[in-house]
Amino acid sequence: MSNGRALLAFAAAVCGVAALIIAKRMKDRSNWNHALAILEDFHRESATPLQRLQQIVNAMLVEMRKGLAAENESTMKMLITHINSLPTGDEKGVFYALDLGGTNFRVLRVQLGGKKKGIVQQDYEEKHLPSHLMTGTNTELFDYVASELANFVSEEGTRYNLPRDQTRELGVTFSFPVKQNSVASGTLINWTKGFAVTGTVGKDVVEELQAAMVRRGLKMRVAALVNDTVGTLARGRYVSGDVMIAVILGTGTNACYLERVDAIPKMKDALQRSGNMVINMEWGNFSSSFLPRTKIDDALDMDSINPGYQSFEKLVSGMYLGEIVRRLLLKLAREADFFGENVPPKLTMSFILSTPNICSLHQDDSSDLQMVAKTLEEVLEIRGTSLEVRQIVVEVCDIVARRGARLSGSGIVAILKKLRRSAIISGDAELHKARLSWQGQRTIVAVDGGLYEHYPKYREYMQAAVVELVGEQTAAQVSIEFTNDGSGIGAALLAACYSEEATP
Ligand code: ADP
Ligand code: MG
Repeated sequence: MSNGRALLAFAAAVCGVAALIIAKRMKDRSNWNHALAILEDFHRESATPLQRLQQIVNAMLVEMRKGLAAENESTMKMLITHINSLPTGDEKGVFYALDLGGTNFRVLRVQLGGKKKGIVQQDYEEKHLPSHLMTGTNTELFDYVASELANFVSEEGTRYNLPRDQTRELGVTFSFPVKQNSVASGTLINWTKGFAVTGTVGKDVVEELQAAMVRRGLKMRVAALVNDTVGTLARGRYVSGDVMIAVILGTGTNACYLERVDAIPKMKDALQRSGNMVINMEWGNFSSSFLPRTKIDDALDMDSINPGYQSFEKLVSGMYLGEIVRRLLLKLAREADFFGENVPPKLTMSFILSTPNICSLHQDDSSDLQMVAKTLEEVLEIRGTSLEVRQIVVEVCDIVARRGARLSGSGIVAILKKLRRSAIISGDAELHKARLSWQGQRTIVAVDGGLYEHYPKYREYMQAAVVELVGEQTAAQVSIEFTNDGSGIGAALLAACYSEEATP
């Protein structure tokens, strides 16, 4: 080859490489722009401006009223819990609780000092439920639970000076769907969470437990059957009479509040005609066309075990926030080569990204987002991300968490408004004054659950939405307070309220 030809070939090669580089840059740029467009679309579709939140508050108020008027008319069940008496702080004595709702269950003992003396002593034991019992028979399950309870009681010896033959009072938190017939009875509608025990569906779970305790020779009486939301309300109430609302923000979400009986038309044949009643809203199933749902949420719903149900929960609670983020990142990876030319295999796995992961991605305050790089690497095996990519990952987490938090804040405001309206309608002068102006008296919202407890940004966004919706002045009267262990201590407190002694 002559020198001239070689030079030409070299020049052509250089041009080729340059062209490739330019083409790659153009592709990168177009991908990047596409990624930004996807993000922008998601941001727009899931936006929660004030006006939208107001529409959601109003829609929830309508659903609340429908649910209180009749059965099966609302997306929210608005269940009558039969709890019309809550702890005052004066309770005295030793009470027990059983918290049964998953593969672990707890037994607790609480000694109450009476007259604002508070909790003198508390003990609990966490027990593992052998997996064969989750798919065994009704008798096996309740015999096991009763015998663990009996062991717990026998280990206390004479420490509490309880007469040997005294019947102990037990509050039970049973976190499966039950149709409650009274404070201390409820029939199991169906098992969830991997339980498939034969012979329990349609039966009164309290009767079943009570019978097992008799078989075991344990003198214990189930005084109250509750869910974790109601337990949280009781736990909060023990400390302050200003607690009117309880909210769970954990794996799932739910809320309950103290309603006036005359605002519950469906309580027709009730003995009780006045006073208050705790309503378990089951707000996770709240649904409205105003909810800011995206195509990603629709797809998540379709792939879930309960499509069409728990719409609110799927936007708000800890079980889903990580999965929503994963689905959006996967879309970015597939459609805009967001993590390079190949889609990271781990990113295709459902629920691999947890809400605690989202929390640590979101709250990385290092300038180069080292925590984000680490989490992406450890959880999704995505390495060598640029700072710009990591910033977008944080942005995605922010959008998803902000939407969830603002929606749960709107739910709280809907209940606050409902409390106020019920007070006006009932003509309760004192309540009227307090809740109409929302001045003079505080309203406390007791909140429990891992999502609320461990995710400060979520808490901030939720609080901010409440302030936006009701205004600074009113918001100053509303206090949202973390309230721990309603399903344990709360249930024991309700056992005290509904003990044989307290309910002659
Ligand atoms: P459950 O709701 O199952 O009774 P918890 O109230 O303890 O249990 O809540 C657990 C849920 O809280 C987890 O499923 C998770 O979604 C959420 N969670 C736990 N830790 C964090 C965290 N650090 N950041 C955000 N969410 C968290
Ligand atoms: Mg819980």
